[in-house]
Amino acid sequence: MLARCDVAVVGAGPAGAWAAYTLARRGARVTIFDPSHPREKPCGGGVTGRALALVGEAIDGARFPQSVIRSARFVDSRSGGTAVVTLDPGNRGSESSLIVASRAVFDAALLDAARRAGATVSSSRVTDVTVDVDGARIDTAGGSHRANVVIGADGANSLVRRRVVQPFPRRLLSIATGFFAHGATSDEVVIELVADPAGYLWSFPRPDHLAIGICAQADAGLTPSTLRERALEWIGRTHLADAARLEPYSWPIPSLDSQAFATLDLASDRWALAGDAAGLVDPITREGIFFALLSGQWAAEAVADGRFPRDYTARVRDEIAPDLACAARFKAGFFRPAFMRLLVHALQRSAAVREILVDLVAGRQPYKTLKWRLLKTLELRLAWKVLARSG
Ligand SMILES: Cc1cc2nc3c(=O)[nH]c(=O)nc-3n(C[C@H](O)[C@H](O)[C@H](O)COP(=O)(O)OP(=O)(O)OC[C@H]3O[C@@H](n4cnc5c(N)ncnc54)[C@H](O)[C@@H]3O)c2cc1C
Repeated sequence: MLARCDVAVVGAGPAGAWAAYTLARRGARVTIFDPSHPREKPCGGGVTGRALALVGEAIDGARFPQSVIRSARFVDSRSGGTAVVTLDPGNRGSESSLIVASRAVFDAALLDAARRAGATVSSSRVTDVTVDVDGARIDTAGGSHRANVVIGADGANSLVRRRVVQPFPRRLLSIATGFFAHGATSDEVVIELVADPAGYLWSFPRPDHLAIGICAQADAGLTPSTLRERALEWIGRTHLADAARLEPYSWPIPSLDSQAFATLDLASDRWALAGDAAGLVDPITREGIFFALLSGQWAAEAVADGRFPRDYTARVRDEIAPDLACAARFKAGFFRPAFMRLLVHALQRSAAVREILVDLVAGRQPYKTLKWRLLKTLELRLAWKVLARSG
């Protein structure tokens, strides 16, 4: 006889753990599968104020080890121009901060909350998923399970996604490569804007190490080892992590284009995809934790309220996808050398532009109104023209 539950959640990252928490709180019998904990996930670990606010009822954001980010340093690699932007934590209450946490710590806190709410946690890897009209069968090395609905929250390489639709093609993925620099830390995020590959190098400080990385579209023709060389060269040049022990990582990030955001594969009668498995990552900032939490919560609420899959797909399509599609349209222009130079220049001179960027980093500035806010600043009216020309 197969073990049976109402909902099976595959993957206990932010999307899965938060979906399991939400379901368990509403009285559903939910089992969440993930063999990886405790583990670090390749990630900057930047958690925005809006993400912390979403999970505030379950985990005390102030109690786990974290670095509260006081400033972000933006560097234009071509001109060498630098601007330091104060993030001013505490200025706007719970929505204020960008904190950086180890994903081992943050994800464990979420999974713990799900367990305390009543979810069953299985440390088995899911080896296969089959969906039929009556529900889903979940196979693990330890046995098989049946559920009325399966939520695929198993990340960018999602097995559930591969079984119910198809994997992301390479052109919709980027590869992030870099190092955890153990023994170095800071309270400043550093972002160096680079034209080739179009994007940026970053250093995100956690309490006892830095997460340093670089990212490129998977079909850009750059191998992880080439990208790692770039990150190493940067570490040497900036002295960000002198004497630190460098632990390498490499991981895919969904980086959808606007067309893909308009045609997301989200759910059918017996399955849903959430977080990275659904492709819900900001293609410019690469913020994914907030969208993972939100989509996990919305999938769970739709199931618990008996309005699945309709409510889930409608909410993601109406409230998340349009703004991410807008970001995808801006992306090429954003990383053009001319725009990056003007942006850093404007950040040096204008408090209004710094304020806009702080809001963008903290997730408070939607892309759909970014244009109008930038156009109101004299400094960036010109930059917007550069951006619009490439959009
Ligand atoms: C280098 C890098 C830097 C990033 N920086 C940031 C940042 O600073 N801020 C931010 O918001 N986002 C960042 N992101 C994006 C962010 O990491 C993801 O968007 C986020 O983790 C998505 O959460 P998730 O729950 O959907 O998936 P994941 O966090 O990937 O969790 C998926 C889980 O599924 C489990 N799993 C996979 N397959 C199976 C299986 N077969 N059976 C059982 N379990 C399985 C895995 O073990 C994992 O625990 C970054 C990403 C990368 C790669």
